[in-house]
Formats: sequence, structure tokens, C-alpha cells
Amino acid sequence: MGPRGVGKTTTARLIAKAFNCQKVQYQAGTSRDIIEPCNVCSSCVAITGGHALDVMEIDAASNTGVDHVREHIIDAIRFIPHASSFKVFIIDEVHMLSSSAFNALLKTLEEPPAHAVFILATTEIHKIPETIISRCQRFDFKRVPAKELVERLQILIKEEQVEVSDEVLYEIARHSDGCVRDAESLLGQILAIGEKTIGLKEASLVLPASNMLLVVDFAKVLLQKDAREAIRLLNTYIDQGVELSHFLEDLTAFLRTLLFVCLGGIEAAQETFQEEVQKQIVLLSQTTDSGFLTEAIERFLESRRLMKTDKIPQVSAEIAIMRLCVSQHTPHEQKKSLDIPSALESQSFLPVNKSAPSLSDNAVLSSPQENKEMIQTDKTIFDTVPVLNLEEVKEKWPQIFERLQEKHASLPLVLKAGELKNVQGNEVRVGFEYTFHVEMLNDHKHKHVIEDVLGSVLGSSSVRFSAIHQKVEADPETDQVVSKLLDAFGGSAI
Ligand SMILES: [Zn+2]
Repeated sequence: MGPRGVGKTTTARLIAKAFNCQKVQYQAGTSRDIIEPCNVCSSCVAITGGHALDVMEIDAASNTGVDHVREHIIDAIRFIPHASSFKVFIIDEVHMLSSSAFNALLKTLEEPPAHAVFILATTEIHKIPETIISRCQRFDFKRVPAKELVERLQILIKEEQVEVSDEVLYEIARHSDGCVRDAESLLGQILAIGEKTIGLKEASLVLPASNMLLVVDFAKVLLQKDAREAIRLLNTYIDQGVELSHFLEDLTAFLRTLLFVCLGGIEAAQETFQEEVQKQIVLLSQTTDSGFLTEAIERFLESRRLMKTDKIPQVSAEIAIMRLCVSQHTPHEQKKSLDIPSALESQSFLPVNKSAPSLSDNAVLSSPQENKEMIQTDKTIFDTVPVLNLEEVKEKWPQIFERLQEKHASLPLVLKAGELKNVQGNEVRVGFEYTFHVEMLNDHKHKHVIEDVLGSVLGSSSVRFSAIHQKVEADPETDQVVSKLLDAFGGSAI
């Protein structure tokens, strides 16, 4: 068993060769146990070519049923081998077999004929019944370390007589995540570019556009807790075409290795990165601490998750940077940074206030306090609404907001997205474009909070509140607010 692309099936074929080779070579001076297939006899050639009659490769992923196992294994096994000593059954992705198929197979595994050899390969050993495992010899295949992958790739490019920089080879190794097949296929794509000398620039046509040296520069600034420069760098990279998700992935991998090195595991860096990056990791590890790194990894993992739902994908990463850079400075700031919903909300109003939704210095320095003031003074939305006989509610609306803010962190923000429609009897009705808002505000416990506030400001305990659905022309600014709210509450717009 082992991860994909590390040579399980290739090894299975080699074993099949060794069993059936007509000119098996016993290694000199050792026991008969160490044998090498000759690779030239008719059996070896047939197996290499994939047309050996006595080697059956079965892909369990596409043939999961018991019928297939009966037909291709149990029935076939009764006949003696055609031209070889053994019938070898290679079952790939064996974990995909149905339980009845496993049962059928089990009987054969319990009493196999002398001429039968089974090789089962899987990426997911935990899905194989214990009864099957207990009848097998188990060999575990592991991911290939980046350094070994690079060595392998170096052999290949030598054969091709092409120069590929180590930087590129390490990038390939990292992107393949220990999978030789992926690494070779990536290298193949890069060689197909047709250049004789290939550096990062040429390879960027194939490799995702993010590289470790950019990550190193960014990490340096981040570890100095320079939020402004870190956010500027991030946006520069994005403008230059770096794909954010890959960048964050690389950043997480880098910080993780840095953390290992901080904890004394220097090999982690040596196995994964090229020399230049290794040096930087060692340098950086002397000026940072594992606590900060752990927090950073956590935050960027979170931002990778959040970025998928955001119109400005980098916002979540920018928030992560902000929190990391301020959290260590003052206890006051730290407390704020732990309050996740409020931090998200404070960011959510930035684009509304600005013509361009980019994070400028102002944005970096903006605090929830400023936004609070914004909410209190921004009455325009209600001035334009025709209010039916309820000048009083309209007049006291800012006060209602203020009071609501004291009671609940996010309700005022949702309420702000609506329009005060009318008042019928003792019921205050506010219209919302999104049913998500309507449902949220009409939710019993939220409604109760709002009614409480309405009651105390309007001086009547019998005031009722109700959110109603209304169609409003799409407004890009509102959309952004909504998407932030969706992030904060984990809902979806309907
Ligand atoms: Zn042979």
C-alpha cells in the first residue's frame, strides 16, 4: 500500500517478472532469495509490453462487483499458466471492491492453487477487510522526498540533453508532493516547451505561477510584522499574475517547514527546498518563534478556506496578515483580534466607504470604532424611503441602531442592509433584498433582541418587528457587504 504515483503497480509488474522470468539471475554470492528478472526473455518482454497471458492486471476501481471477480479471478485461476510458471493477478485499487467481491476473493486467498500469485495494490489500506490483510504480506510505499525526486529528474534531463535549473526541479518536486508519476509528467510538459535551457521564467508556462523565493520575501516581511508592506507585496504578486491559492499553499508549506526548523528539525528544510531557500529558512528560524508560526499557519489555512467565497479573494489573506501583525503588539489589540466576527465586520465596510476596494494605508489603520461612527451617521438610506405615518420611528432609527449595537455585534449590520418600509399598528416592517436577511432577522431569538430595543427606544413594550422580502436593484456595494456577512455567518444568499 502507499500513496498514488510512487511505484506500486510498477513494482507489482517487476514481481510478476521475477516470478515468471525464464532466465532468472541470482545475485552472485547471495542466497537464492535475491533474484533479478532478465528483461530479455519472452516472458519478461511480454510483461513489459503488457500482453503476458499469465499476468492479469485488474483495475478494481472500474470493476468493483463480485461478478467480475468470479469471472476474471476465480474462474481463471482454475487453469494452469499458459507459458510461465505462475499466474500472477495484480489487483489495482483493491479497496474499491465491493464487500461481496472481497468475500469471493477471500475464499481463493485462503486456499490458492500453487501456481497462483496475488498482488494487491491500494492507496487506502483502511478500506481493506482485516481478513484479507491478514492473508497478505504487506509492503508500505512512501512519498518520495523532494531531494530524491530532484535526483531522479536530473537523470532524465541529462538523457534529454536539456538544462533545467535546480530551482525549477525543486518546484516540480514540491508540486508533485512526493509522487514520481506527477513529477515526471510535469517535467515532460516543461521539456515540451522546447527550450534548451529552462529557468523559472520559461517553466512558469507550465508550473503554477508562484515560487518559493517570492514566498521567502513575503515571509520575511510578515515575520517583521510589517502589515503594510506584507499586504503591498501580496497585492503586487497578484497583479503580477501569481495565483493566490498557490501562493497561500506555498506559504503554508514554507511556514510549516520553518516551524519544524524552529523546533530543531533542520532536515525538513533540506529535504524540501533548494539551497537558497534552505539558507533563508535557517536565518529566519533564528528570529521567530514557534508560537507565532503556529498562529500564522492557522490563519493562512483559514484564509485559504475563506477566499473561495469572497469577491475579493485576497481579503481573507489580508485580514490574516493584519491579525498576525497586530496581535503580538498590545494586549488590547490582541483581544480584538480574537473576536473573529467583529474583525470581519470591520473589514466588510471598507469597500463601501471607498471608490476602489483596494486596501490602502487607511484601510490598514481602520478600526471597528471608525465603522461604528459610520453606521451611526449614515442615515441616507432611510431618508429616501417613503415612511407611512412613522416619522417617529424614522427619527429614532439612529438611536435604535446605537442601542442595538450595544446588545448585539452583527444584528445592526444586517438591519442596515434593509429599508424601513412602514408601520402597521404596532409592527415595524423593514424590507430586505435577500431572503437570507429576512430569515435571519425573523429568527425568534434575533427578533426578540430587536423588539426589545425598539420597545425601549420607542417607549412601548408592545412593539413588534418584522423583516419582509423586497426586490431591490442590484447594488454592487451591497453585494460586497452581503458577501462579508455570508462569510461571517456561514450562510448563503438565496
Ligand atoms: Zn526474463
